[in-house]
Amino acid sequence: AAKTTGKNRAVRFSPDLRTRHLRHVHLAHALRHARSRGELTLAYQPIIDLATGAPTAVEALLRWHPADGTPIGPGTFIPIAEATDLITELGHWVLTRATADAAAWHRTHRTAVTVNVSGRQLRDPAFPGAVAAALRAAGLPPHALILEITENTLLATTPDQTARLTAALARLRESGVRIALDDFGTGYSSLAYLPTLPVDILKIDRSFTTSPAHTDHHRTRAFTKAILDISASLDLTTIVEGVETPDQADLLRTLGARLAQGHLFCRPVPADRVPGLLAAAPWHPTLT
Ligand code: C2E
Ligand code: MG
Ligand code: MG
Ligand code: MG
Repeated sequence: AAKTTGKNRAVRFSPDLRTRHLRHVHLAHALRHARSRGELTLAYQPIIDLATGAPTAVEALLRWHPADGTPIGPGTFIPIAEATDLITELGHWVLTRATADAAAWHRTHRTAVTVNVSGRQLRDPAFPGAVAAALRAAGLPPHALILEITENTLLATTPDQTARLTAALARLRESGVRIALDDFGTGYSSLAYLPTLPVDILKIDRSFTTSPAHTDHHRTRAFTKAILDISASLDLTTIVEGVETPDQADLLRTLGARLAQGHLFCRPVPADRVPGLLAAAPWHPTLT
């Protein structure tokens, strides 16, 4: 473990920690130039109406393909960007790109677009103005944009910070944009919060859909059903993440889930493949 030794404050790393630290520094530096080097793209994953097979929205997911290496996943680089102000710049690029891309899809197919937003972006007083400007520039109506914020970002902070983030969300919502609570069910939140949050959509985390084999299926099923019921009682829409098999989709339909997303329907694809997917919809992967 790292250790501070006396007055010269030298820090000793284990070889493994040192390697990881260097990799982090290297990635942080490379990420700073990724956008200007054209290494960033957006992938889009459809969100499907389980009853009709229609894609009602697509989620924008950031991709980084360094010119001199293999792709690095957002699970790795988003936390690095979030540790600095870099996330503000990247987030702004994502917002601008996604709203511009989605305008055409909304015109032809009424498709909405969802954009993941970090806590640091949301805390930025300029953010609501940037959202409005992006919508105007793209010619996308506010109701066609859904901003996703993770449950952890929103709630695993001090009550004061939560109140500030909640106020920012409420302001965005007043402008007509919809808010989704992402990765719902994985955080440390209390359910008591839920009725007070300015959100429209709950995205039930993948861990509920793909519960490990050793867990009791009846209990996972009962729990998923309970979340769907709570969500309905609060007039919230639910999107179930990580649907990979026809059995999962069938079960979710039985439980009353309306919207789902996952590899069963479609993996995230580059923007230029979206029009073809929308034209080929609806999806009926379990009715074959
Ligand atoms: P998320 O917002 O919960 O996005 C869903 C993740 O689940 C995506 O991973 C997606 O590719 C993956 N996924 C979708 N369907 C399935 C499935 O059936 N099975 C499995 N195993 N996985 C599935 P991805 O693209 O690697 O993104 C990871 C996370 O990075 C996202 O989780 C989100 O929190 C963050 N992220 C991605 N793009 C952005 C962005 O532009 N801004 C911010 N702030 N965060 C982003
Ligand atoms: Mg998301
Ligand atoms: Mg999620
Ligand atoms: Mg996630």
